[in-house]
Amino acid sequence: MSNEAIKTGDMPSDEFRKYGYEIVDWIANYFEHIDEYPVLSQVEPNWLKDNLPASAPEKGEDFGDVLADVDKLILPAVTHWNHPNFHGLFSTSTSSVGVFGEMLTAAFDMKGMLWRTSPASTELEDVVLDWLRQMMDLPEHFEGIIYDTASVSTMHAIAAAREKAGFSIREKGMSGRDDVPLLRVYASEHVHSSIDKCVITLGLGLASLRKIECNDLFEMIPEKLAAAINEDIENGFVPICVIPTVGTTSTSSVDPVDAIADICEKYGVWLHVDTAYAGSTAIVPEFRQHFKGWERADSIVVNPHKWLFTPFDLSVLYCKKLNDLKDAFSLVAEYLKTSDEQTVKNGMDYGIQLGRRFRALKLWFVIRYFGREGLIARLREHCRLARLFASWVEESPDFDMLAPVPFALVCFRACPAGVEDLNALNEEIMNDINASGDAYLSHTKLNGKFTLRLSVGSIRVEEKHLRKVWDLLNAARK
Ligand code: PLP
Repeated sequence: MSNEAIKTGDMPSDEFRKYGYEIVDWIANYFEHIDEYPVLSQVEPNWLKDNLPASAPEKGEDFGDVLADVDKLILPAVTHWNHPNFHGLFSTSTSSVGVFGEMLTAAFDMKGMLWRTSPASTELEDVVLDWLRQMMDLPEHFEGIIYDTASVSTMHAIAAAREKAGFSIREKGMSGRDDVPLLRVYASEHVHSSIDKCVITLGLGLASLRKIECNDLFEMIPEKLAAAINEDIENGFVPICVIPTVGTTSTSSVDPVDAIADICEKYGVWLHVDTAYAGSTAIVPEFRQHFKGWERADSIVVNPHKWLFTPFDLSVLYCKKLNDLKDAFSLVAEYLKTSDEQTVKNGMDYGIQLGRRFRALKLWFVIRYFGREGLIARLREHCRLARLFASWVEESPDFDMLAPVPFALVCFRACPAGVEDLNALNEEIMNDINASGDAYLSHTKLNGKFTLRLSVGSIRVEEKHLRKVWDLLNAARK
């Protein structure tokens, strides 16, 4: 049918079907051939903008032409997070069933604000988060809620902690008051930058965030935390929240949550555990040792969109008492009042968003399709591959390990004899490999050393992909 004839209404269903099948084929081919693409997009800044019209089309276009432009214009500007040689930042990838979840979520297009507007989303979220809780061996009292990202999950946790501290900030705010002392949030010096952004967003300010020193293994030192809290109390400040991380971003180090929980209990401070990256591995029995003490937390964040093959975005905040979030955020406008509000859970009560995407569906698909065993097998394999890569580094006289590998992140650097400026050499190696499109590595700085980071987490990664990076590194250091 020509677009000329269509004045109102949606795309006709026969056309939708035709392009729908085409798109599924397109995605299947994309996944099948993913490692033939350059990992990092090779375009220059503004290439896409320069190739797109400056204003919207007046008349509707043939959808076949739109899809052709995906190949011609969009694809070259894509950095392929699903590529098995994407090892930068944290390697995250979607599974195919995760894509199905997104398709149906878009089709339903429900806004999970009230149970009434979205019973399926509300109840599936409860069920699937309880499945995940059980898989991670967390106690029954933890109840979860889905947000988009860990940054937002943690912001909600700190807001709840702030409300619990008893200054009626929800009602009175923080400005223009002389009865609110400096409220303190504590985290290690390796904490993710999202925590800095949370305290900015919540009006606590960067001055509220006290970063605690780490040991040689990049883990928070509990004695330093206790001393900092004591000193702050003596100064009239009020500690409101401590945020240890299991799986820090730079090195995947593990803060001693159990010892930190003792301190939080002693001082009555909210304990929020950031396991955005590594939390998924709590489903693997032999990795549970890293999570000791997290069952004592007030809140925990874990991101299935990082390492549970669920497409971005899906972050889970588990709370010991979910009502703490409600105390901080619930506010029911007249037009949102329903007769069943005493008996049902309304998602809008637990955060700043009114409408919430039906994200639970994709996680439900992923857990049902792979099963607990299938998910465990994949996480174990990633950790095995990371340890294998680390063993190559350890055995080579030209490379050095710079941090332990508790999960699937390897921190290392090239150190061939006779090179004076190792920082410059490693930066050059990383930039050359990334520019080649063959693999993507990222970096951090540890004790002043430019450190290469190789993260293993793609659902499509195999040993041959790591061998390829190892060959690239050995070729590049010469
Ligand atoms: N916390 C940790 C430990 C992370 O590694 C990250 C991201 O890598 C975040 C928080 C932020 O995650 P998000 O992008 O979901 O906000």
